[in-house]
Amino acid sequence: MSKLGKIKLPHRKHTAEMKDSRIPTPSVVVLPMSQYIGAPAIPIVKVGQTVCVGTKVAEADGKVSAAIHSPVSGTVKKVGDFLLANGKSCQAITIESDGEMTMDPGITPPTVTNAEELCQAIRESGLVGLGGAGFPTANKLENAISKNIDTIIVNGAECEPYITVDNRTMIDGAENVVKGVKIIEEYIPGPQQIIVAIENNKPIAIKKMTEAFAGDPKVKVVALPSEYPQGAEKTLVYTLLGRVIPDGKLPSDVGCVMFNVTSVAFFAHYLETGIPYVWRTLTVDGSAVKSPKNVTAPIGTSLRDILTFCDADFDNLGKVLYGGPMMGIAAYDLDAPIYKNTNALLALSKAESLPKKQYPCIHCGKCVAHCPMGLNPTAFVKAMKIESKDERAEALQSANVLSCIDCGSCSYVCPSRRPLVENNKLAKNDLRATLASKKN
Ligand code: SF4
Ligand code: SF4
Repeated sequence: MSKLGKIKLPHRKHTAEMKDSRIPTPSVVVLPMSQYIGAPAIPIVKVGQTVCVGTKVAEADGKVSAAIHSPVSGTVKKVGDFLLANGKSCQAITIESDGEMTMDPGITPPTVTNAEELCQAIRESGLVGLGGAGFPTANKLENAISKNIDTIIVNGAECEPYITVDNRTMIDGAENVVKGVKIIEEYIPGPQQIIVAIENNKPIAIKKMTEAFAGDPKVKVVALPSEYPQGAEKTLVYTLLGRVIPDGKLPSDVGCVMFNVTSVAFFAHYLETGIPYVWRTLTVDGSAVKSPKNVTAPIGTSLRDILTFCDADFDNLGKVLYGGPMMGIAAYDLDAPIYKNTNALLALSKAESLPKKQYPCIHCGKCVAHCPMGLNPTAFVKAMKIESKDERAEALQSANVLSCIDCGSCSYVCPSRRPLVENNKLAKNDLRATLASKKN
């Protein structure tokens, strides 16, 4: 694994030195019930109901799920079907803001005196991993408590180009990162070390974190080479600890748990205020954005409102991505909202969005050599051409397609511009559908 899968990318962190700007309260927010990994939340409000900032509007459905709260005060206008950017559908709650941003009177800091209460509080806050994947944080906390963990990794690598949210958290919110780590130390006493991992293209953040943790012998701040995908869970665990997470397993299966650094900062804010996870900061950048910014906005704000705030050139807008250029998903509608785990919007000009000519595979092997998971994306292409559903599933399984993390490195390095990552996603969906049909 050590020789596999890192690439050098242009950083394009234009907003690295910009503090976040808070967007004016939007007139409407749309809250899809599926905004993270896990089961969609269940709406608990009705049309016409008034809500405040922080009012719970949807309950988590089962263990791997997250509650959703209103980020504005106002009136519920609609509870209906919604098409997500990934092509799946779910229910969504539309709330018309009254512009007042009245806080729910029931909001108080949670009482936390032990690990179980911390998990329960974070579950109530609706927090999901803020680095992009969006796994409910309470589940990670439970793993950190119940499994034999020796290391907690605070992930500030932020390896994808353009995105600078975690960088700003470590600079502007250093105090909350320290408080968040103290909360982990107090309530999860098992781990012997806590590692704050940061790519070395963030010198100010490294300095801030090193100074902030100088008096804490349990915490180590580690500067890592800026190589993509350094911040991916499996890559980071291997780079820092030399441990390989087996396929289908979690970091907790090899003795560690990883939290995104902005999630850790949120622990401190939430335990002090009781305000659930309703606003988020995201980087807005790209060739169609005249004023790139780090924007703090209510979850559910439309892409249009956010891009307007950043002075986007709508006449020259070709494509908007949720996320960065490597892992981002194209938005189909500017009136669609940002989600809990939207850490960036990348708005590209028409010229930059034009499809590029593709050529046949020349069997150069670059996609294999640069895959951080040690996979062969051309094997997935070959497998997807098999007619028989069962044989296709067998070929995809033996090529280990479900280990693909959609990092996009294979597409990036391919000299023939083969649409490899797109094929990987189709292949994973195809295999999952076949496996699900066998279970039923
Ligand atoms: S997208 Fe998947 S197959 Fe391609 S390099 Fe990343 S992990 Fe490997
Ligand atoms: S990198 Fe592109 S051209 Fe090279 S083997 Fe992979 S798919 Fe073929």
